[in-house]
Amino acid sequence: MEGNGASFSQSREPWGGIGAYDYKKYITASNQLKHTNIIHFNKNLSLNPLNQTLKIMSTTNYMEMEVRMDEENTINEYLLRHDDGTIPVLHDYGARVKIGLEKPRASLTLMSTALSRETTELSLQERLGEAAYDLRHSPQYNEAKDKRIYKGRIWGDQESTGPKPLAKPLAATTLDSLSDRMAGRIAVGLILVSGPLPRLVLNNKKQIKITAEIQASLSWLYTQAPKRDLSWAYDIIPVTVNVPDTLHGSSFETFEAPWRDAALKQLGFKSGFKGVRDYIQKLKTELNTDRAYCAFFTKYTLQHFAYAYSGGPHLVMHYANDGWGVDNIDRVFAHETCHIFNAPDEYAISDCDCKGAYGPDKVPNGNCANCAPNGGVSCIMRANDWAMCDFTRRHIGFTKAHA
Ligand SMILES: [Zn+2]
Repeated sequence: MEGNGASFSQSREPWGGIGAYDYKKYITASNQLKHTNIIHFNKNLSLNPLNQTLKIMSTTNYMEMEVRMDEENTINEYLLRHDDGTIPVLHDYGARVKIGLEKPRASLTLMSTALSRETTELSLQERLGEAAYDLRHSPQYNEAKDKRIYKGRIWGDQESTGPKPLAKPLAATTLDSLSDRMAGRIAVGLILVSGPLPRLVLNNKKQIKITAEIQASLSWLYTQAPKRDLSWAYDIIPVTVNVPDTLHGSSFETFEAPWRDAALKQLGFKSGFKGVRDYIQKLKTELNTDRAYCAFFTKYTLQHFAYAYSGGPHLVMHYANDGWGVDNIDRVFAHETCHIFNAPDEYAISDCDCKGAYGPDKVPNGNCANCAPNGGVSCIMRANDWAMCDFTRRHIGFTKAHA
C-alpha cells in the first residue's frame, strides 16, 4: 500500500507496538503522512484527536480506516455512509454522505462502514459533498493550497497590483435570529447560479471546487470554536437562470437582483430579501438546524466579487474571486461568513475603530488595525490567514469553552 499517501503495516514501527503514539509528531517527521488517505490501524485503538494522540490497545487484528486530516492538520475527518449517531457529524450532505470526526472511541463496525464506498444512488448534493471531500485530499488540491497566492495579505491592501480589497459588509435590513451566533447545527444554503452564456456557467467541476472550498472553510471555522459545538448541514442547489448579465450599475442590488430573483423564483420563493429569508427559514426547519444562512455563487458580473450582509441573511461570491483566485475561496468565504454572524472588519481601510458593540455579547472591535495596541494580531477579519483573534471569536458568539 505504498504510493498515494502513506500507509503502515504491522511490521513497521511504531504501529506494531502497544502503547501511545504521537500522531502529529509523526506527521511532522514525515511529510508523507500529511493528508494521507489510508492508514492501517490495529484493532481496538482509541483516538483522541484533540491532542492528536493515538493509542493502540491491541495488535491482534488488522483493519483499514480512512483518516484524513483537514487542511491545517488539526482535525480528523471521516467519510460516513451511514449515520448511527455515534460519530459526531461535521458536514451533513444528506442521509448517505456525511463527514464525521473526532471519535472518542473507535468502533470497528463504524470504521468498516466509513470505508465502504458502495455505489448507492446518491443525490447530486451527496455526490458534490463526497467529490469535494476527495478533492480536498488530492495532491493537486493541497499543492494549490500550499502555493496559494497573496498569503497573509491584508484584505484591504490597495497596492497597484494584485487583487481588489474585500468589500465592507452591507447593512442588514433587520437583526436576524437565524445568525445570532455561530453555534450548534447551522444550515448552509449554497445556490450556484449559472446563466445562459458559456462564460456564465458553473459546470460540475466548478461546483465540486466550490463545495470543497466551503467544506474546508467551514471545517476551519469549526476548529476555531472553543467548544467545538458546530456542524454544518448543506442545501446545495445548482440553478440555471435565463437573464442577461448586468454590465453597468452603481449598486450591489442592481447587479445581484436579476439573477438572484430569477433563481429564487425557480426555487419557488418571492424575490428580494423576503425570498432569501423565507428560503433559509425553510432550511432551518427542514434540516432541523439551530441557525441558517445562504451563499450565492455565480459568474455573473457583480458590484464587488465578494460581499456579505452583516448579520445575514446571505453572502455573494463571484467564482473567480477577483485576483485572490479560486484557491482563496475558502478564506474569503470564512471571512464573509463571519460577517453573517456579526463580526466587523479589522483592516485599516475598512475605517474600523475599536469601539462599537458587535454580536450577541456586544463586544467592541478591539483588534481593529487603526487603534489596537501594536496594530493588533492576525485574524481572518483582517488578512488572508488562517487565524482568528479573540475579539472575532466573541463577535461571532462562539460558545465559551467553560461557560
Ligand atoms: Zn469584510
